Amino acid sequence: MDLTWSAEEDAFRAEARSWLETNLAAWRAELGAEPRSGDTREGFAQHLDWERRLFADRWAVVSWAPEHGGRGASLWEWLLFEEEYYRAGAPPRITQNGIFLLAPSIYEFGTPEQQDGILRRLAGAEDLWCQGWSEPNAGSDLASVTSCAQRVDGGWLLNGQKTWTTRGAFCTHLFGLFRTDPDSARHKGLTYLLVPLDTDGVTVRGFGRLDGDEGFAEVFFDDAFLADDAVPGGVVLGQPEGGWAVAMATAGSERGLTLRSPGRFLATAERLVELCRDRGDDGLRRRAATAWMHADAYQQQTLATVTKLAAGAKAGAEASLTKLWWSELDIELHAIALDLLGPEAELEGPWSKGWQFALSGPIYAGTNEIQRNIAAERLLGLPR
Ligand SMILES: Cc1cc2nc3c(=O)[nH]c(=O)nc-3n(C[C@H](O)[C@H](O)[C@H](O)COP(=O)(O)OP(=O)(O)OC[C@H]3O[C@@H](n4cnc5c(N)ncnc54)[C@H](O)[C@@H]3O)c2cc1C
Repeated sequence: MDLTWSAEEDAFRAEARSWLETNLAAWRAELGAEPRSGDTREGFAQHLDWERRLFADRWAVVSWAPEHGGRGASLWEWLLFEEEYYRAGAPPRITQNGIFLLAPSIYEFGTPEQQDGILRRLAGAEDLWCQGWSEPNAGSDLASVTSCAQRVDGGWLLNGQKTWTTRGAFCTHLFGLFRTDPDSARHKGLTYLLVPLDTDGVTVRGFGRLDGDEGFAEVFFDDAFLADDAVPGGVVLGQPEGGWAVAMATAGSERGLTLRSPGRFLATAERLVELCRDRGDDGLRRRAATAWMHADAYQQQTLATVTKLAAGAKAGAEASLTKLWWSELDIELHAIALDLLGPEAELEGPWSKGWQFALSGPIYAGTNEIQRNIAAERLLGLPR
């Protein structure tokens, strides 16, 4: 690893920092109050406005090709942007399922027509994508999905139900896994489909979470006809019946590099250190220092991963280790903050809200038990 930044990279960071400072201040001033959570209907609209500002000045997807709204930045520069983004306290990305999960798979498996027709609209938050994998009886065991798509003249007939679709209640499109060969079992016979949510026969039913946010949805398909050309370039991503491989690539992005970059945790660790300045005993301060070092170590680990990816390697099963790392780190950082705050932690605030969300980290993107199984079997070669 070469841990020095070049003059161009330093200049890139400075430009990002200055843009974020100016534009965040302007956005907040126009809102006139703290933005609401992006998982509420009102907050989602506020965050959409923010996303469009990012896109207008080409900060939404810095590492993408210019024709898709990016700057053609390197992975290193993307990491720098992420660091600056969270350091500035900019809001969580409501477009994240599209830009961080779906888009890398569109780049890898999509046709040029799909890339040109989907990516730019996705980056500009014109189309908002949610992830339709989980079903009432298929979570950890994703290969047991029963939602199906039957081939008919000019398209597919969809039936079944998806659940836990994050921000599904506010999105316009869904990417999902459907069984297209009814005689197939498990990982075979699945197709990765791109579905506009306004398709006739699709019902999106939002429901609330325990923390009061309301973005989750169940999505029902009742003889919904999905025309082949409902999405530019076609509704199948990859090959029909080859959906599992595409889904695993998407899962690699979710668990590995793109969804939770180190910038997010470095910023939280810095805020934790600030919180220690006028509170806490030696024991708590020592825990905070240890957690700060864990965040720093996560960054070093990510730099090693990017070094390998930049040399052409694929993330593979190692993404499971990354997922274990970030999800447990997030809980550690927030648990210490709550201990530092004492009774104050019970008041609604960024730390208590962050703690509640951190608790879901070991569940979404595949539970941590499943990640440990993957690491045991695929990295350590232990028996099933
Ligand atoms: C905040 C949040 C956002 C989410 N967003 C989305 C989304 O946008 N789209 C989507 O499709 N899904 C989403 N999910 C759903 C998520 O992917 C599932 O909750 C997760 O995969 C677990 O599935 P499950 O809830 O059915 O639990 P189950 O699979 O029923 O698991 C229950 C428990 O059993 C354990 N377990 C299961 N199998 C094994 C095994 N083989 N070995 C050891 N332990 C095992 C699990 O670890 C878990 O503790 C989201 C979940 C959360 C919490």
